[in-house]
Amino acid sequence: MSGLAPWQANTWRTLAAALDGRRLHHGLLFSAPAGFGKRPLVAALAAAALCERREADGFACGHCRACKLGAAGSHPDLVRVGLELRDDGKPRADIVIEQMRQLSQRLALASQFGGLQVAIIDPADRLNASAANGLLKTLEEPSASTLIVLVADEASRLPATIRSRCQRVELRSPTREEALAWLHAQGLDPALAGEALDASLGNPGRALAWSGDATLPLRQSCAQDLAALARGRRSAVELAEQWAADRPAERLWFAAVLAREQARQCADAAASLTTRDEIPKLAAWFGQANRVRGLLSTTVRTDLVLLDLLRTWPRREPINDKG
Ligand SMILES: [Zn+2]
Repeated sequence: MSGLAPWQANTWRTLAAALDGRRLHHGLLFSAPAGFGKRPLVAALAAAALCERREADGFACGHCRACKLGAAGSHPDLVRVGLELRDDGKPRADIVIEQMRQLSQRLALASQFGGLQVAIIDPADRLNASAANGLLKTLEEPSASTLIVLVADEASRLPATIRSRCQRVELRSPTREEALAWLHAQGLDPALAGEALDASLGNPGRALAWSGDATLPLRQSCAQDLAALARGRRSAVELAEQWAADRPAERLWFAAVLAREQARQCADAAASLTTRDEIPKLAAWFGQANRVRGLLSTTVRTDLVLLDLLRTWPRREPINDKG
C-alpha cells in the first residue's frame, strides 16, 4: 500500500529503517518544490510511525486501530498544524505563534496510545517570525517520543536556526524516463505527458495538474505574446494588464521557461554577434521572471511588477517565427 512515486523508494527505505531502529531525528524537514510528491511521503511516514503492526517494507498496515483513527483524521497522537481560516473563511497568510503554543502544550502531554506523538507542520515556510521562535523552543527540547515533521516547498524561507535543528530529508527528482512512466501510469498519453513535462521543467506533479486543466495552452499564448512584444506589435503595458488579469504566476513560469529555451537556441545557433549578446540578458531575465513570480503572493501590484519585467524582455526578433 505505498502509493509513493517510484523515485522515492530509496528515501522511503532510509526513513523506514530509521523509524524501525528508533533512530529517526526528532525534527525532520521535507523540502522540495511542490509537485515532487513530498506530501504523500510525509503521510506514509506519519502513518507508519503510529501504526501498531507495520508491514515488512515499513509501511503502515492500514487495518489496526491506529491506522483507522489516522485515516479518519482523529488519531489523538497526530497533530497537524497548517494555515488556519480567518473569520471571513479565507486561510491566513501565516502560521502564527498561538498555534505553536498549542502545539508545545499538546506535545508536553504523554502520548495517548503510548507510542510516538507526531506533529506535521505544513507549510512550514509560512511560519511567521514569532511562530518560528516558538517552534525553535520545542525543537530545542527534543523528546524521544516526539516526531516533528516540517514540510516546505521553499526551505530557504525558513530561518536558519530552524533548519539547523532539523534533519533535512532530501527528495530526489525523477529522471525524465521515471517521470514519463509515472505520468503514463496516471493515464496521460505519451505526447501530452512529454509536452507537460517540458512545460513544467520536469516536475511530474505540476505536469499532471497542468495537463488536466487549461494551463498548458497558456505556454503557446505566452510565446506569441513575447514574440509580438519583440516585434513591437504589442506593448508591455498591454501585456502586463492582460497577464495580471489571468493566471499571472503560470504565465510567468512559461515566460521564464521560454527565456531559458531561447538562450539555449541562441547558444546552439550559428549565431550572429547580436544574438550571442542576448544570451546573458535572457539568462538574467529568466532569473528576474522567477523572482517576480515569487513576489506575486505578497502585496505587490501584479500589473506593475509585470510591467517592469516585460519592459526588459531582451529579444528583438523571435528565433522561431511562430507568432
Ligand atoms: Zn496499522
